[in-house]
Amino acid sequence: MQPNRRIRPRRVAALASVTSLILAVGTSAGTGHLTAGTSTVAGAGPISPEHSTALGPCMISGPPTVQMSEGVPTPRGYARSTGTVRALTLMVDFPDAPGPGDALDRYREFFPQTRDWFRTSSYGRLDYRAETPIPDWLRMPKSFREYGIERGAPFDPGYRRLVQDIVVAADARVDFQSYDFLNVLVTPNAGPSALDTVLSVTFAGNMEAPVADGVSVTNASFVYSRQDDGSGTYHRTGYRVLPHENGHVFGLPDLYTAEGGGAVGHWDIMSEDWGANNDLLGWHKWKLGWLDDSQVRCASAPGTDDYSLTPLARKGGPKLVFVPLGPRSGYALELRTREGNDEAVCRPGVLVYRVDADVDTGMGPVKVHDSQEDSGGCTRSPNVHAELSDATFTPGEAFDDGKRGVRVAVVGVDEAGAYRVRVTRER
Ligand SMILES: [Zn+2]
Repeated sequence: MQPNRRIRPRRVAALASVTSLILAVGTSAGTGHLTAGTSTVAGAGPISPEHSTALGPCMISGPPTVQMSEGVPTPRGYARSTGTVRALTLMVDFPDAPGPGDALDRYREFFPQTRDWFRTSSYGRLDYRAETPIPDWLRMPKSFREYGIERGAPFDPGYRRLVQDIVVAADARVDFQSYDFLNVLVTPNAGPSALDTVLSVTFAGNMEAPVADGVSVTNASFVYSRQDDGSGTYHRTGYRVLPHENGHVFGLPDLYTAEGGGAVGHWDIMSEDWGANNDLLGWHKWKLGWLDDSQVRCASAPGTDDYSLTPLARKGGPKLVFVPLGPRSGYALELRTREGNDEAVCRPGVLVYRVDADVDTGMGPVKVHDSQEDSGGCTRSPNVHAELSDATFTPGEAFDDGKRGVRVAVVGVDEAGAYRVRVTRER
């Protein structure tokens, strides 16, 4: 099966709010699961570090009408993405879909892999602790059907009822104040197979969520079914829906579009989370506070400058060059190699992509430039968007945007594996 090739409908729902809160529900081409993102000014996470003024022109931002933006810094209201983060993780079942076997077996489909994935991707900056104060199936009072949960379902009324029932059922044994966000691992026999319809969804920055122990359940990821592509690798890669969903609780938008994963391919887990493991874009790592400002260079001045890039998956060293095109967009450059979470990279080199902070989640806020258009790509790994797998630029190759007067040439690679890129701006 090639679930990531399917075209799925996209739905947007809006929630009214006191602040500039917006809620979007989109569907993933990579996985078909849903995203609900909201941004608000009030709320939890102190996730935005102070930024160096030299990077000012590269701190692009979107207008308030954008629900989940690629802008830096990420608005408040999402969960913290650095330091120790505690994820309340509950295994939930229903009278018409009783959890099979040990609830902790469901937990073990996602952990410790999800924790390891975040530790690797964040260079150890995110210490993700998934806690299970209730190690059994938490039985909901109503049948799964009664919640009316289906693909694209908005928070109201089904999810509100479900969260409310989870809070009531768990409250005696859980102090909701102790956690940064909620993972709901739904029994895999509730709802359709992920091969048919992926229901997994995150409601992020949702200030209108039910309150438990005095705190609102603002950020919650729901995972359904099993993302088993039939290739026999479920035990290794099936957990990857959860880091994707949790990416939303940290404020990251979806990078797939209604047409599928063709905008970013397998270069970010917010684009495709089926199949072989892969990392996040450097832009997302900067957004999440996993790269220091000193690891990011802002190519905002006219002229020609050389920059060094070390492999994104490796800790330390320069990671990201950004070439702003204006206050809302720019080109990002980073070096992708086959290491760390990037297990399917078949053409190591410099990835060039455009970031648009005024393009919403699921609408293509990031577009990778393919250095080898229509080549068919260099991977046959299942569920990896093949065409973009060889999108990187290698020494001797160059990316040209004549219209905007930007040229990026990969001029060399040193013994340690660092690449040198030459950026020319006409203006
Ligand atoms: Zn998503």
